[in-house]
Amino acid sequence: MDAGDLGRDLDRVLISEEQLREKTKELAKAVDADYAGKELLLVGVLKGAIMVMADLARALHTPAEMDWMAISSYGSGTKSSGVVRILKDLDTDLEGRHVLVVEDIVDSGLTLSWLLGNLKSRGPASVEVCAMLRKPAAQRIELDVRYVGFDIPNEFVVGYGLDYAEKYRNLPFVGTLAPHVYSS
Ligand code: 5GP
Ligand code: MG
Ligand code: MG
Repeated sequence: MDAGDLGRDLDRVLISEEQLREKTKELAKAVDADYAGKELLLVGVLKGAIMVMADLARALHTPAEMDWMAISSYGSGTKSSGVVRILKDLDTDLEGRHVLVVEDIVDSGLTLSWLLGNLKSRGPASVEVCAMLRKPAAQRIELDVRYVGFDIPNEFVVGYGLDYAEKYRNLPFVGTLAPHVYSS
């Protein structure tokens, strides 16, 4: 692992840069097959989805526009409550569009569940989800996530868009943090 100074903060690499690259190709292939002859609107959820969006969008052959939403989940600390506020809405009208929500991670699933209800109410032709990571053990609500990169253990992870106090998003891999990071 070569993460420079950040390396000291990391406990271990869970998913390598190479694994992410290979998985992105697989996901793009599946999406291309499903949307042949159609046009996509990729909806990224800021800020965590930036890396997945950038890599997936470039791996697709399907014509795709990209738009972004920023949402904030009310809740205590790191626990998601499912009560969501829109900080930045889409610029695009969803009427008749094939929407693919691009997500970093499905944890409890509560935020995504709210988002899907919100997007579906805007008259799209279809809404599906592509999430690079999912924690099956943490999921609290039934969700149909069509494209999943990796199922991971119920641990807090950073990198590849995911932060701890806004840090580590720029790591090119997914890893867990050393205990001293949380206690300092
Ligand atoms: P959910 O509503 O599914 O519980 O979680 C929504 C958001 O919480 C995710 O999109 C992500 O931004 C954040 N989150 C959930 N699990 C993790 C994690 O392991 N690490 C980081 N950095 N963020 C997480
Ligand atoms: Mg997210
Ligand atoms: Mg975060």
